[in-house]
Amino acid sequence: MEVESVRMEWLHELKRADPEIYDLIKKELERQRTGLEMIPSENFTSLAVMQASGSILTNKYSEGYPGKRYYGGNQFIDMVERAAIERAKKLFGVVHVNVQPYSGSPANLAVLLALCKPGDTISGMNLTDGGHLTHGWKTSETGMLFNSVPYHVKPDGYIDIDEVRKIAAEHKPRMIWVGATAYTREFPFEELSKIADECGAYLVADVAHISGLIAGGVHKSPTPYVHVITTTTHKTLRGPRGAMIMVTEKGMQKDPELADKIDRTIFPGLQGGPHDHTTAGIAIALLEASRPEFKTYAQQVVKNARALAEALKANGIKLVTDGTDNHMILVDLTPFGKGKGVFVQDALDVAGITLNKNTIPHDPASPFYPSGVRMGTPALTTRGMKEPEMHIIGKWIAEVINEAKGYELPEDKETRQEYLKKFKAEIPENRKLVAIRQQVAELCSRFPLYPEVSL
Ligand SMILES: *Cc1c(COP(=O)(O)O)cnc(C)c1O
Repeated sequence: MEVESVRMEWLHELKRADPEIYDLIKKELERQRTGLEMIPSENFTSLAVMQASGSILTNKYSEGYPGKRYYGGNQFIDMVERAAIERAKKLFGVVHVNVQPYSGSPANLAVLLALCKPGDTISGMNLTDGGHLTHGWKTSETGMLFNSVPYHVKPDGYIDIDEVRKIAAEHKPRMIWVGATAYTREFPFEELSKIADECGAYLVADVAHISGLIAGGVHKSPTPYVHVITTTTHKTLRGPRGAMIMVTEKGMQKDPELADKIDRTIFPGLQGGPHDHTTAGIAIALLEASRPEFKTYAQQVVKNARALAEALKANGIKLVTDGTDNHMILVDLTPFGKGKGVFVQDALDVAGITLNKNTIPHDPASPFYPSGVRMGTPALTTRGMKEPEMHIIGKWIAEVINEAKGYELPEDKETRQEYLKKFKAEIPENRKLVAIRQQVAELCSRFPLYPEVSL
């Protein structure tokens, strides 16, 4: 049977079985097709990845690891998981891989629990400086179970390596995180590895955002410098929603039991049966990422981010660190006042451009009403867009910011709610935004998403 006809049949069955959910999936497909998806942590997987993720592998229980399962009937699942592991080992040059974490956050928690005892000191990039919740932020269990001493970025937006050195000397952390959700420059793996080695800390790279760029050879690999690497599989790596934990040669030298400790913490420590359908999707994404076309893709992601950064700057928009080395751009909206992120995000939404408000380094406003917006090029690049499109999009974004910048967030909480309500009511009526929305839809129609799929 042809792959295409199988797929159509599945969707046909979905339509019959649950028209309500079918209709919502159809609407979401339409939304993805007609708008510009610029959230830097999102991407569009291949149909092959989706077919594996939606396959009969979801039916199986396979607690344990290949060759060591608690249930029978795992001969093919073992092969799927081994394929994923081998492909990841090869692609990232590591000696051990666990592909079972349900997602990035549980993977990070597992690494912390495998390497540290509750109460131990850890250090990661502060959340409002661009770090991830799971690197020890106070509202995350990782900040409650461990003694978190975060480091920051300097006023210029780059990681404050001197501060990391000071924290290492003073607090002797057991583990140091390198990685972020909002950082536009190359990570200083080498410098941080010297600091970690000097104080005896584990250095763990969380490359959730940039693993696709590393696989494609456009970001330095952490492998020679760190002990452990965690990554999501659904961001630039363009796989299904999942995660991996990888142990490097350097990690095994520091602790020969590292791989076992991590595997035991995932199962039975934190999880039950692995999501075999996701494992298959990860294996496919890793195969795709090992191909020359993926290198071209990763290069284009970065070229597009640079072109977009140039276009924004040419249109009077200020960027954190004044540019980007990767797939992401952080716009600093403080020249227009503080706390403007929420207005710009909503106005862009009206224009058909999806991204998110974000804190900027030393944000003068609160994390809830931050003074920046974050955007990225992975999804647009998957659609086939290149530099000429980035120039147009940069100009549109600058125009939308111009429309939204006049809104001022009231200091007083009650008037604030009223003000936001009024803003939300009037912004969809803004003529300029509605006109841009039409142009966005026209641009999107020239870069069709999943043209093989009709619902
Ligand atoms: C996205 C992300 C995570 C969390 O991944 P989830 O799958 O959303 O739990 C962890 N670390 C970093 C740096 C991320 O960007």
